[in-house]
Amino acid sequence: MKRHAGVSLSFDDRSVNEWFELRGLFRENNVRATFFITQPDSLDSIEIYKLKELQNDGHEIGFHGTMHVLSEYYIKENSYTDYLDNEISKGMKTMDSLGFKCVSFAYPYGAKYWFTDFLLLRKFEFLRGVSPVNKEKNISKMDEIYYSFDGSKILSALGFDINSGITKSMIDVAIERSIASQEVLLLYAHAPDTDEQDNGYSFNIELLKYIIQKAKENDIGFYPMCELKANGAYR
Ligand SMILES: [Zn+2]
Repeated sequence: MKRHAGVSLSFDDRSVNEWFELRGLFRENNVRATFFITQPDSLDSIEIYKLKELQNDGHEIGFHGTMHVLSEYYIKENSYTDYLDNEISKGMKTMDSLGFKCVSFAYPYGAKYWFTDFLLLRKFEFLRGVSPVNKEKNISKMDEIYYSFDGSKILSALGFDINSGITKSMIDVAIERSIASQEVLLLYAHAPDTDEQDNGYSFNIELLKYIIQKAKENDIGFYPMCELKANGAYR
């Protein structure tokens, strides 16, 4: 079995204009990521154009819910057919009509349980949840955020937004593990931190650059989620 160390970056919600600003950084460094889109009905024509450009660059466009609801609560308050119709199918139709064939889904709030996994694996190839930093703050010990080319379809990513408390030295040990064990480290964030958007749910561009630099120094690649297949890397 062919395996490669790597990093899988994903970005959630709908900060298309801000993500697009990073396009040059991604291109220069052969970074291909997954952008998980929520509320696709609200995309304007410029955002749609920019998403297509990102897709043409080799990035993956994934789905992140029509309404961005907490799946378990929504299903309990309504029904699972309502969830599938309103949170999944409706927005997927929009994505389809825009030319985005989404095969990966990221749960809003990372909220998932066995039943949503069961329902959604019929519709998507990959499901992504989230994992908070462990108590030891040693992310090399968080097995669930590393993909080991075992064909797993249910994945989990560690957030690197400002409120996550992730540091450069934590990234160092995580990349060391991914090299040592030939696994892909899964990381996700929201919008880049700017003056207008400096809440905790945004990431420091310097940290993103550091992750890219670290990967480059160690000659490890970036994988969109849709490329995390059982037989290893394509690069
Ligand atoms: Zn979200």
